[in-house]
Amino acid sequence: MHHCQGHRPTYVEIDLAALQHNFVQARRQAGEGRELLAVVKADAYGHGAARVAPALQQAGADLFGVAMVEEGLELRRAGVSRPILVLGGLYPGQEEELLAHDLVPVIFDLETARRLNARAAADGRRLSYHLKLDTGMGRVGFRPEELPAVLAALAKLQGLVMDGLISHLAVADEPDHPFTAEQAERFRSALAQVRQAGFAPRHIHLSNSAALFSQQFPECNLVRPGIVLYGGLPASCFADRLDLRPVMSFRTSVAQVKQVPVGTGVSYGHRFVAERPTRLAAIPVGYADGYSRNLSNVGQVLVRGRRVPVAGTVCMDWTLIDVTDIPQVQVGDEVTLLGRDNGQSITAEEWAQAIGTINYEVFCQISKRVPRVYLGG
Ligand SMILES: *Cc1c(COP(=O)(O)O)cnc(C)c1O
Repeated sequence: MHHCQGHRPTYVEIDLAALQHNFVQARRQAGEGRELLAVVKADAYGHGAARVAPALQQAGADLFGVAMVEEGLELRRAGVSRPILVLGGLYPGQEEELLAHDLVPVIFDLETARRLNARAAADGRRLSYHLKLDTGMGRVGFRPEELPAVLAALAKLQGLVMDGLISHLAVADEPDHPFTAEQAERFRSALAQVRQAGFAPRHIHLSNSAALFSQQFPECNLVRPGIVLYGGLPASCFADRLDLRPVMSFRTSVAQVKQVPVGTGVSYGHRFVAERPTRLAAIPVGYADGYSRNLSNVGQVLVRGRRVPVAGTVCMDWTLIDVTDIPQVQVGDEVTLLGRDNGQSITAEEWAQAIGTINYEVFCQISKRVPRVYLGG
């Protein structure tokens, strides 16, 4: 599209209209009467939280989810006024900031609860929190057997109000896996105990994107989609279940073209050797931009609407592509690393599969030095 004058031509394009479209799909999939918490942690999965969150707020997101207090503050600075849930909780010393910016913590240990309670009480406030249960993810959260003692301790903390009950599913991306039902059962039983103990959490939630496709839990009134908002699938088995549109494209353009004879070794280690007279194009993108080094000799990119292979080792700032089969290629031609070009497309899922990871990591790895350009919304 643009070879910006005076800039390295490598950029990420974020389609806010596609983001809002995906939000509407998630809303529909969640069903009537369920609120949507848009997960925008990790800079909105690399898409840029300061632009993504306001666009989702405009589309009707009820709450936002971040991993860290710092990410919550960034959303407030960007004009997000809806409730923000800090999924990863907080660390000693962050109580004041959390209160000052009206962030809602997820609590999974009593020490944090006590510190927050003291801080809130000192300010004469009552602070809302969501209680995190470990129903089988085995990561953070209170275990079911701890619950009676935990609830008794929490009941004494007058500065805190339990506003939500949250747990996280371990195998929701395998829809036939029986463990999800087991987790849901543990969650249901915990919810009953919580209510029995006199708490009245308003938000009851268990579902990430994968669970949104596979199950709906009748006791839950809030869902927490992340990856689907960005047009990604939580697992390939969910293909075609929702009309999702990719939000991110990653592009650069050709910086130099050269012709090399048979036998020429290319890039570090000469892991590509020309087997025919070869035209190579150098593109100014590398692993420092998040173009994984594992794509060396493996990745494909689009030029003039056609696929061409990466030739040799991906460097920190440069990658070479073999454009022998497209003789018209010249300096300045647009190159698509992720996204569409003339009916062809390279998806994050394809890229992830090529290097043995998941689309989530592909998005998160696009580094800070790549400028984000926003369209629509
Ligand atoms: C990241 C995260 C989500 C969103 O997961 P997706 O698979 O991207 O939908 C939901 N809940 C919690 C607790 C998370 O950490």
